[in-house]
Amino acid sequence: MKVYRLPAHCAAVLFDMDSTLYTHSEYQQTQIDLPIERLARLRRKSFEEMNGEIARCREEWAAARDGQKTSLGNVFKAFGVSIEESVRWREELYEPERYLAEDPLLCAALAKLAARFALAVVTNNPVSIVRRTLAVLGAAGFFRVIVGLDTCGVSKPHKAPFLKAAEQCGAAAASCVSVGDRYDIDIALPLELGMGGVLVDGVEDVYKLPDLLVQE
Ligand SMILES: [Mg+2]
Repeated sequence: MKVYRLPAHCAAVLFDMDSTLYTHSEYQQTQIDLPIERLARLRRKSFEEMNGEIARCREEWAAARDGQKTSLGNVFKAFGVSIEESVRWREELYEPERYLAEDPLLCAALAKLAARFALAVVTNNPVSIVRRTLAVLGAAGFFRVIVGLDTCGVSKPHKAPFLKAAEQCGAAAASCVSVGDRYDIDIALPLELGMGGVLVDGVEDVYKLPDLLVQE
């Protein structure tokens, strides 16, 4: 875990979902591979060819922007797949129920945080996938706000999803802290917006967040 900044007065915690509220490398990989597989079929290419083209696109994006990484949604846009289509593909392809299970340690941590702060999920997955994921983790009751790819129609890192979540939590940006596993996607922009930022290595770090954020 790396703490970049904490708000002087914290009112809301904005969580990334994947590899933050759960850690599951196999499921995470399907979230990358399945849409690439579908795009490959549509373009009549092999998975390997398509995967290579996507990797080159990511490299070019990063080279043009000081090494910054971008989301799969933005990369797909560059290949002519609209955000609306990305939302549909994810809804059809992703299966959180197949890989994830209830997480009592996560729920215990979220219960402590929810008693003090408004909790939000801010993710590049569609809202329906968030609901299914939270249900499987047993964590649905702790979140007041869900901002997904289909809420603002733009992919993180974009300021709209973060500002939307802050607004729906009723918190000023300076009173929010963003928690996620990818610096360029989840942390860099929130810091620019005046939010706090905590980079996690996975859900195990989320278990420790009450110790960091809740002062008795
Ligand atoms: Mg993530």
